[in-house]
Amino acid sequence: MMERKRELFGLGLDALEEFFLSLGLARYRSKQVYNWLYKKFVFDFAAMSDIAKGDREVLADKCSILPGEIEIAKTQRSADGLTEKVLLRYSDGALVESVLMEHDYGHSVCLSSQVGCPMGCRFCASGQQGLERDLTAAEILAQGAIFGKHLAEQGKRWSRLVVMGSGEPFLNYANVLAALDFFHRPDAWGLSYRHMTVSTCGIVPGIERLAREGKPINLAISLHSVRQEVRSALMPANKVYPFPSVLKAAAAYGADSGRQVTYEYILIAGLNHTEEDAELLASYLKGQNAAVNLIPANPVPDKGIERPAMKDCRAFCRRLQRAGLNATLRKEMGKDIAAACGQLRGAAAKAGVHEGGYSGAGDQ
Ligand code: SF4
Repeated sequence: MMERKRELFGLGLDALEEFFLSLGLARYRSKQVYNWLYKKFVFDFAAMSDIAKGDREVLADKCSILPGEIEIAKTQRSADGLTEKVLLRYSDGALVESVLMEHDYGHSVCLSSQVGCPMGCRFCASGQQGLERDLTAAEILAQGAIFGKHLAEQGKRWSRLVVMGSGEPFLNYANVLAALDFFHRPDAWGLSYRHMTVSTCGIVPGIERLAREGKPINLAISLHSVRQEVRSALMPANKVYPFPSVLKAAAAYGADSGRQVTYEYILIAGLNHTEEDAELLASYLKGQNAAVNLIPANPVPDKGIERPAMKDCRAFCRRLQRAGLNATLRKEMGKDIAAACGQLRGAAAKAGVHEGGYSGAGDQ
């Protein structure tokens, strides 16, 4: 049986050093390789020009770099050039989307945490696809690295990341946290926890566990309604963790971490954007350090999801603002490339492209 190559991606410098010594390589080689991987985003041993040819051959023989040698199956760019979406194919054929978005403040990356998602939210393509498997920490990191390489070629880098692609991050907690901790490593990318956001559909034990980490990671909650029957119909998770318990855990998280909690609220025609809905939402969030991000729905006609008129979306936003909430109507990005969760993966699967991909922007 062929010896399995050791995957280097996501190994800390200390672990890399130990492994290189076991291969008979000099200690300083680990630092060189580490810099190639995480500072220069070079994922090919042959291109690591300051490493002796013999050592490069040992490395190529014994190690792989990106987990499972990920391929980019498909890339889409929005017409305005501000959003780029990739479909990644992992070595087992699993397809995952990730998204890069350019904002006024810089670039943000939207990462997926699972292949598909078990949560079944009605408005979400990933939820309709079900769960295929969890992603490893290295597979989550690799999504950021692929965009990091792309940006480094233009002399840029990402400055924020959101775990909001396919999957429920708190159902793959250990791998998501390990990936975020690696993004934070000062000897790798040194990204502040304050520039990271984890988005959940409301897994209360996950919110509580994140609070115990004591790291100032931002929390986003997919809320979408504060009426039990409406939220349960949209998000089956509400039957297990009813929204009042989610709001309570999120408020405690905000108070403990000092971070503002963001509530994502998709506006769906005929479902959740009346004056009463706005008042109810304002009453639940009153006094919290919270922001409400309103998102006009991406239409999913066969699931009864339609977008309200923009004037109604704006009116809902104004009502929340008048009630004292920090509410914004999200600027739409990448609609022309179906940047919402799982749509590229779904389209690839339908077209029989089962050949890897990259996804992101999970919770719409
Ligand atoms: S919205 Fe998020 S939690 Fe819900 S099904 Fe989609 S990926 Fe899963």
